[in-house]
This record gives sequence, C-alpha cells and structure tokens, in this order.
Amino acid sequence: MLPNYTRWDREGIFPRQMWHRLGQLGVTALRVDEAHGGVEADAVTAGIAAEEVARGDFNLAYSVILHSLVGEILNQHASDHLKREWLPALANGTKVFAIAVTEPSAGSDAAAMQTRAVRDGDSYVLTGEKSGISAATVAEVALVFAKTDRSKGAKGISAFLVPTGLSGVRTEVYQDMGTVPIARGSIVLDSVRVPAKYLVGAENRGFYEVMNGFDLSRILIALQCIGAALQSLDETMAFVKVRHTFGHPLAKYQGVSFPIAEHYTKLQMVRWHCYRALWLRDRSLPHTMEAAMAKWMGPKTAVEAIHQCILLNGHAGYTKDLPHEQRLRDVIGLEIGDGTAQTQQMIIARELFGRAYKSY
Ligand SMILES: Cc1cc2nc3c(=O)[nH]c(=O)nc-3n(C[C@H](O)[C@H](O)[C@H](O)COP(=O)(O)OP(=O)(O)OC[C@H]3O[C@@H](n4cnc5c(N)ncnc54)[C@H](O)[C@@H]3O)c2cc1C
Repeated sequence: MLPNYTRWDREGIFPRQMWHRLGQLGVTALRVDEAHGGVEADAVTAGIAAEEVARGDFNLAYSVILHSLVGEILNQHASDHLKREWLPALANGTKVFAIAVTEPSAGSDAAAMQTRAVRDGDSYVLTGEKSGISAATVAEVALVFAKTDRSKGAKGISAFLVPTGLSGVRTEVYQDMGTVPIARGSIVLDSVRVPAKYLVGAENRGFYEVMNGFDLSRILIALQCIGAALQSLDETMAFVKVRHTFGHPLAKYQGVSFPIAEHYTKLQMVRWHCYRALWLRDRSLPHTMEAAMAKWMGPKTAVEAIHQCILLNGHAGYTKDLPHEQRLRDVIGLEIGDGTAQTQQMIIARELFGRAYKSY
C-alpha cells in the first residue's frame, strides 16, 4: 500500500481494487461472525489492523473503521434476513459501506437530526440530508440514521440500511483538505422508499445502538492516526541518520533526537491506552470514557508528531515529494470526524461527574 498512498491522493481516486483486496484478506470482515462470512476477530485484533493498515495507507484504514463499525452494528442488531442479505458483501469487501449520522445542522448534537423516516405500508420513506459522510460517493450502501418519532430527541431515532442506488438518493463530493480518496460528501434523501425490513434493530433505538458502536470506532480511529504518525517517525528516523550538517548526522544532535524521543513516547502511551480500552471492550467491561480519551488524544498526538516530522525533514518535509504533509492533512480530519475534542471531553466529564452534571 505504502508506495501508492500519495498517488490516490494526487489523482483523487478511491482505490476500490485495494479495498477489495483487503476484503479478500479478511480486513473488512473483522467484526462479522463466521456464519455470515466474517472472521470474528476480537476488538484488539481490529485495533492492530487499523494501526498497521494506516502505516501503509491512512485512507485504506477506513476499510477497517467503517466495516468494523457497520459490521458490528449489523451483526449485533440486524434481523437474520438482513444479515444474510448484506453481511457477506460487507465482510468480503465487494461492497463499500458508509455510516450516515451527521447533518448540516446536527453534528456534535447528533440527536438534533432532521432526517425523517415515515412508515408507509411495507416501507419507510426517508427524507433529509446527511453531510460529511466518509465514502458518501463511493459506498454502495449506507447505514442511515433518521427520526421515526420527531417529538423525541435521541429516543426517536432509528437506523436503516439504504442502498445508494435507490431512487431518490443523490450524493455530492466535498473538496476536503485531506483523505481525498475517501470521497467524503453528502447523501441527500428525497422521499427514498426503503423496505421496512431494512430497519436495523428496534424502531427508535438506533441512537443507542450506534453510540455503543462509536466506543469501538473511536479507539480504532485513534490507532489509525497513531499508525500513520509512527510511520512518519520511522521514516524521519531513517532520514536523520543519513542527513549530515556541520560534519555529523542529524540524529547525533539532541535538538533532533529529543523531539523524536518525546513524540515516540507520547504515541506509545496513547497507543497502549487504546489497546487497554479494546481489551476492556472484549471483556464487556465499561470503556466509554477510555474510548473518548483515545479519540481525543490519538489524532491530537499524531498531528503533533507528524508536524514535528515535517520540520525535521527540512524543506523536503514541506514538499509533496514526501508523504508527511499528506499524513498531516489526512489525520487532522479525524480530530473532527467521529466527534471533536470538545465532544470527547464532554463524554469524559459526564463519566467522571455523572449524568446529573452533563451540559447537554
Ligand atoms: C474526516 C471526517 C470524517 C467524517 N466521517 C463521518 C461519517 O462517516 N459519518 C458521519 O455521520 N459523519 C462524519 N463526519 C462528520 C463529523 O462527525 C462531524 O463533523 C462532527 O461530529 C462535528 O460536527 P460539526 O461539523 O457539525 O461541528 P459542530 O457540531 O457545529 O461543532 C463546531 C465546533 O464547536 C464545538 N462545539 C460544539 N458544541 C460544543 C459544546 N457544547 N461545547 C464546546 N464546544 C462545542 C465543536 O467541538 C467544534 O469545534 C466526518 C467528519 C470529518 C471531518
């Protein structure tokens, strides 16, 4: 993956064939049970996959994040019929799955979403706009969240599988500063008729089901960012061993080696926090606060480390000849996606102080 990481960015291409290849290797099947074509990996294994794939290609690590998140939600909450119909294609990577929660006027406050789903005979009719959706214009299927009871907030939201080829679905790509191949954008739903059997989980329970899934994706995202940063550090360490100034390799100067030691230390500390959080999840122990800590610190620590790598590579680091500037652009996005730093701090504070003290 590594030799082509910058190529897909420059060409603006979603590397579908690589996504399929990762599917053949089981990377898109991690959180799906064997009966539906999955490999039933534990959460720790999914973390290793996110980190390692992101070392090669940060964007292809979205295959781990999206398919672990949607795969786990479907595996846990979809009907047997839905699982049989959709999970094999998710597991083998032949179809790309997106998750659509955010809207133009409902991001951090996701429960304020306006998209509605109205029951009509054997169907639900969905109308609204989902924004900032990873893989919006390349996914064949999206797990879409919509209000089934508009009189309620989070308790009136349901989840639906929506094939993006259905009549009334329109997608638009954004000009994001990073993760260009991931084709992030809007999914506009104009009276889209979805079979009632495509409801995932119980009506009005969608929000709670996805929130549990976010406890997984947030930790995986942190490891995705850390993997990219560790790769930049490795490449920078190789460079400073051979680049000479004033008669010595750069690595001899503490002004160069200490920042690397500092960022390596911080990344490793966050990394092991992530694996502990995944270990807690594998044992069904509480880990919501740990997931929020990981999601806050993972991208932040990675951004700081990659920034330092750019500086230590001198002018070369600032060019597009090296992958560091792209990693920085790509990783910054995940300081926002799946919940900003403030959102994570709100969760941590809520877990520390109790719900009586929450600000929302
Ligand atoms: C790389 C990337 C990938 C994404 N992928 C997806 C996806 O696949 N599916 C999906 O549904 N969405 C996705 N999103 C959307 C993302 O989840 C939202 O952008 C995010 O939740 C923030 O919402 P917002 O953009 O509306 O910002 P807002 O909620 O408007 O927040 C703006 C700023 O105000 C701060 N803020 C808001 N409320 C408070 C508060 N109470 N206290 C303090 N500060 C506050 C926020 O932290 C932020 O800094 C993605 C976004 C990015 C950038």
